[in-house]
Amino acid sequence: MQPATQPTIQLAERAERISLSPTGAVLIAAERLRARGIDVVNFGVGEPDFPTPEHIKQAAVRALEQNFTKYTPTPGISPLREAICQWHRREFGTDYQLPESVITVGGKQALFNALSMLVNHGDEVILPAPYWVSFPDMIRYAGGEARIVHTNAGDGFRLRAAQVEALVTPRTKVLLVNSPNNPTGAVVPDEEFGRMLELCQRHNIWLLTDECYSHLLFGDLKPFSVAALPGAKGNVIVAGSFSKTFAMTGWRVGFALGPKPIIDAMIRLQSQSTTNATSISQYAALAAATGPMDCVQAMRSEYEQRRAVVLEGLAAIPGVVCSPPEGAFYAFLNVEQTPRVRALRARNEVADTARLVVDLLEEGHVAAVHGEAFGAPGYLRISFANSLERIREGLSRMKAFLSA
Ligand code: PLP
Repeated sequence: MQPATQPTIQLAERAERISLSPTGAVLIAAERLRARGIDVVNFGVGEPDFPTPEHIKQAAVRALEQNFTKYTPTPGISPLREAICQWHRREFGTDYQLPESVITVGGKQALFNALSMLVNHGDEVILPAPYWVSFPDMIRYAGGEARIVHTNAGDGFRLRAAQVEALVTPRTKVLLVNSPNNPTGAVVPDEEFGRMLELCQRHNIWLLTDECYSHLLFGDLKPFSVAALPGAKGNVIVAGSFSKTFAMTGWRVGFALGPKPIIDAMIRLQSQSTTNATSISQYAALAAATGPMDCVQAMRSEYEQRRAVVLEGLAAIPGVVCSPPEGAFYAFLNVEQTPRVRALRARNEVADTARLVVDLLEEGHVAAVHGEAFGAPGYLRISFANSLERIREGLSRMKAFLSA
C-alpha cells in the first residue's frame, strides 16, 4: 500500500491577512511560568481586575431562572437597544434611536463588522499609532490598507486633526479613533475631535470612534463622544463596550450606534456569523445600562490611585520616560534610554522590545507587552488593572531588570 501523503493545506488568501493577537501570546508565556510555580506579576492583562458589579450579576441569574436561554433577535433584545441609546444620551448627550443601534459580541465585533461593511479592497483607513493591536489586522482582513498617523510622545500621544488631514487621499474611507487610547492612555482633546469631524465631513470619510474606555478618565476629564457634536451623526459610527466600563470582559457585550444603513449591514453580517450576543449577557448588560453608575466611578477612582503609584514607580527607574496616561488603565513607557537597553545596543545585540519582554518575563518575572505590537518600537505597555501591592512588586522587579 502506498504511504498516505500529507495533503498541503491551502488556506484562503484572507487567512494570511491576520495573525494571532500578540497580547494573548504574552499571557500564554506567563501562564507557562506560573505552571512551573513561579510568581509572575502580570502587567500584560488588558482587563479590569474587579469583579462584575453585583446588580449586574444578579440580573444574569434572574435571566437564567426565567429561562432567557434562547436565541434573541440578531440586533439584540429591544429593551437593551433602547437602554443603550438612552445611556449614551445620558452620558454623552447624543440622540440615537433604536434602529440606529446593534448589540454585538463585545466592542471588538462592533469594530470588526463596521470595518467589514465599509471598507472595499484598496480603500485606506487612517489609523493613529500607537494603536490597539487588533486594528491593523481588522483593516487588512476587510481588504483595506492602514495609513498610520504617528502621534507625538512629546504631545502626550494626543491625536491632532492636522496630522490626520495630511494623510487623506481620494482612497481614504475611514478614520479610526480610539480615545482614551490603548496603549497610551491619551485622550483626544474635544476641540480636536471637532476638527476631525469637520475634515471627515469635508472629505466624505467615516469617523469610526472606539469608545471602549470612555469612562476610564483621570483628573478633570469627562466622558466625551464626537457623536454628540451638532450634525455629527451622518458621518460617525460609535463602537462601544461593556467590557472595561462595567468590568464585564467575559460576558462579551458591546454595541454600535450609527446611520441605519450601516447598522443594517452590520446586522446582516451578524445574522450570518454569530447570530446574537449571548442572551443572558444581554440581560446583564441591560442592568448595567439602566443601573447606577457609582460602581463605575468607584473603579475609576481606584485606577486613578494606582496610576499615581505607577507613575511614581516609573519615575524611579533610570532612563524610563512615560507620558502620564489621561485615561484607560495602561502606562506606555519608553525604555530606549534604560541602562539595560543601552547596554544591549552597545554590544550590538538585538534590543527590540519583543525580545525585552521575553527576558523581562524569564528573568524579572513580570509580564508586559512589547511596543512593536502597537506600532511603537522602544516602548512597553504595562497594565495597572492590578492591586497596589502587585503594582509595587512589579515595578520594583522592573527597576532591577531595566537597570541591570
Ligand atoms: N477597543 C480597544 C481599544 C480595546 O483595548 C479592546 C479590548 O481590549 C476592545 C476595543 C474590545 O473589547 P471587547 O471586545 O471586550 O468589548
